[in-house]
Amino acid sequence: TKWVYAFGGGQAEGSGSQRDLLGGKGANLAEMAHLGLPVPPGFTVTTEVCTYFYAHEHQYPDTLKGDVAAALAHVGRLTDRVFGDETRPLLVSVRSGARASMPGMMDTVLNLGLNDRTVAALAASAKDERFAFDSYRRFIQMYCNVVLDLPSHGFEEILEEFKERKGFMLDTDLAAADWQAVIERYKAKVLSETGKPFPQDPMVQLWGAIGAVFSSWMNSRAKTYRRLNTIPESWGTAVTVQAMVFGNMGETSATGVAFTRNPSVGTHELYGEFLVNAQGEDVVAGIRTPQNITEAARIAAGSDKPSLETVMPEVFRSFVETTQLLERHYRDMQDMEFTVERGKLWMLQTRNGKRTTKAALKIAIDMAGEGLITREEAVRRIDPASLDQLLHPTLDPKAKRDLLATGLPASPGAAQGEIVFTSDEAEAAKIAGRRSILVRAETSPEDINGMHAAEGILTTRGGMTSHAAVVARGMGKPCVSGAGSIRVDAAKGTLSCAGVVLKKGDLITVDGSTGQVLRGLVPMLEPELSGDFSALMEWADASRRMKVRTNAETPADAQAARRFGAEGIGLCRTEHMFFEGDRIVAVREMILADDEAGRRAALAKLLPMQREDFKQLFGIMSGLPVTIRLLDPPLHEFLPHTDGEMDEVAASLGLSADKVRRRAQDLHEFNPMLGFRGVRLAIAYPEIAEMQARAIFEGAVLAGKEAGEVVEAEIMVPLVMTLAELDLVKGRIVAMAEAVAQETGVTVPYTVGTMIELPRAALKAGEIAGSAEFFSFGTNDLTQTTLGISRDDAASFLGPYTAKGILPADPFVTLDQEGVGELVAIAAERGRRTRPGIKLGICGEHGGDPASIAFCETLGLDYVSCSPFRVPIARLAAAQAAI
Ligand code: ADP
Ligand code: MG
Ligand code: MG
Repeated sequence: TKWVYAFGGGQAEGSGSQRDLLGGKGANLAEMAHLGLPVPPGFTVTTEVCTYFYAHEHQYPDTLKGDVAAALAHVGRLTDRVFGDETRPLLVSVRSGARASMPGMMDTVLNLGLNDRTVAALAASAKDERFAFDSYRRFIQMYCNVVLDLPSHGFEEILEEFKERKGFMLDTDLAAADWQAVIERYKAKVLSETGKPFPQDPMVQLWGAIGAVFSSWMNSRAKTYRRLNTIPESWGTAVTVQAMVFGNMGETSATGVAFTRNPSVGTHELYGEFLVNAQGEDVVAGIRTPQNITEAARIAAGSDKPSLETVMPEVFRSFVETTQLLERHYRDMQDMEFTVERGKLWMLQTRNGKRTTKAALKIAIDMAGEGLITREEAVRRIDPASLDQLLHPTLDPKAKRDLLATGLPASPGAAQGEIVFTSDEAEAAKIAGRRSILVRAETSPEDINGMHAAEGILTTRGGMTSHAAVVARGMGKPCVSGAGSIRVDAAKGTLSCAGVVLKKGDLITVDGSTGQVLRGLVPMLEPELSGDFSALMEWADASRRMKVRTNAETPADAQAARRFGAEGIGLCRTEHMFFEGDRIVAVREMILADDEAGRRAALAKLLPMQREDFKQLFGIMSGLPVTIRLLDPPLHEFLPHTDGEMDEVAASLGLSADKVRRRAQDLHEFNPMLGFRGVRLAIAYPEIAEMQARAIFEGAVLAGKEAGEVVEAEIMVPLVMTLAELDLVKGRIVAMAEAVAQETGVTVPYTVGTMIELPRAALKAGEIAGSAEFFSFGTNDLTQTTLGISRDDAASFLGPYTAKGILPADPFVTLDQEGVGELVAIAAERGRRTRPGIKLGICGEHGGDPASIAFCETLGLDYVSCSPFRVPIARLAAAQAAI
């Protein structure tokens, strides 16, 4: 097996297509080397070594040592240096890189190979002592943190204490001798804390760092990130060892990060930040406020710090060319890391950049317009679930704002909640059901859990590419970064700003679109769907085969769904209408009635209200199909539960409290989901179904008259298990259709179909299709009844199931394709055999889940139906499934 792949000098053993083997970073470094870009030479130890490492108790393959030594020698030849040599030492970085980018999750060590002797050689060759010792102290701190597990703040304290004693303000105030003194203190700390001196042998350093990178694959931050992003543990990470280039060699050196397009809003502009005389992660860590790359961005930001364009015009020009080349090559927006060493540009990383959904839409549409990608590719590039982000609220522009501070608009959308200062506090608030804003000086990978739990993030330091900004954009969380006028005192649990002191638990609002930090809860507005959004939706619709309907029963939901592009109602749950206003009184009267006559009297009161409901729905959906499901839930759901309520109901209906209690007891069920509900209600009390059928037909007649067109109705019978059940109810519906036609002189076209939500119904679908004119798969109940898992009780045990990999996902979120999916496939096949072309749809929660939608496409279903806010997601997912 080949364990090590070299790159550099315009050549590479690997290539960009080998992400699985070389990790994203290693593969793209190889690719950039192939493209002839200036990449410091190096080599990548493959992810297969990581797999081997974990399969063999942290041992390496036998030949690896030799392979690494050979690759190091090769890098030495390309750089005219030798690893460990005391006159021309080769220094390297040791970098991690998984298949999927895991920003900040794995740790990088820079300046490796420095020791008490090579540091002198570095000073001599650079003719800069200060630079050499600065690099050495960075190396010791990083190495100790990553490899020896000594936290960085211990070293920072030493430095702070030193600066204070010497009266220095900035790191740049320290001269070479000062750094030397600091280094001695660092080394003393290592000796006292670990009992061993800081390793001086570069080979020992190298293997320590390689081992640490592989080990970091299993650290808790990485595990959390993988869990949140469903990245399999089995992938492993690669390690890239690469010759160092130095951005900290004085005023003609620099380091930076840039995007080929704006990752926040998607505009086509080179977008990035850099720091002069700095190294590695200084930009991302937000230690100094960085400078803009382009002059245009500097002016737009109103910054008084010069741009790269003016400070290093030559470097700027070749950088622009390189970024354009990379974007054309990868045909996607690139996120790049670069370093300038004494006026020479070096590329250290490129990858497809993370972006907000807003930016993703704009970039996809622009790139299709530029001819870089096709429209179908543009459609394929948007993650359907991410569209949710566009549905984020924004601040009401008319609302009063109590401005505390303004930072950078790091991740769009508005969020509000109580102030928390730590990840733990954010998680605690979330568990307690309270919204929070995580406030930090700057975030680090340790804060991932808290960032997830919080509604929004506010930092007082760091730029647009700081850790907080990058991670928040990836999560779709609103974030304001670098709000420098705010002072955080985490120990006291306060933040102060503009003469105001707020404490933990006080309410604030952050607007990640403008950078504003506001006191209290500012009213928010529902989002407008932008031009890019509707354009992409149109392209998606052009590729889509399945229809997308919505589950809606209120006029507001139906209208919202139509705005989102719903093509009909796939599920109108009539029981929701029974709770509206004071209807519940008539419903209860019906349930409490002693006989059919009493029930009919109560139903007569409900009829005009239901008729009006249906008329309105038909009106809103104007000609689009509307599927109405007959009453489904167990009747006791409509009865009061507390004694007080029961007395009230008894009084208002003129009944004895005893009677109400007795009836409630009668209706009590041990297992209501498998109890007296669905079609079973219609079998026992056909008059309920009759009233609903009458309301549907009469509502359709009225809506038809109003619109001057024919309105069609789809009537759906729930929880059917046998054909006989359906036939009995269908008989009543047909009779009612005839009665209404006679009375009104208008014939309403209609179909009668059934939910398929019991395994027996799925198996007997061939028979049931004899009467059912359509099937709608009620996959919530079908999942409950197939898995024998109660959805309402699943929370206590499903967690471990997915965590331990027994189930790939929560089956109530993503359809269990193997089990429940097989029943759906069987029902579809048998139903079609009896009634070719039978209309098939799905109306469970799964109708809005992209993976489940893709499965529905493979079965050739006619439509999916989901809640209004998931309609755009379903439209896009259905398009992607069809492409
Ligand atoms: P991450 O995955 O966290 O971005 P990287 O491996 O990309 O970690 O390293 C972080 C930063 O360290 C890079 O952006 C770059 O600035 C710096 N760096 C890494 N390798 C080198 C190198 N060989 N020479 C100079 N700087 C380097
Ligand atoms: Mg990087
Ligand atoms: Mg159901």
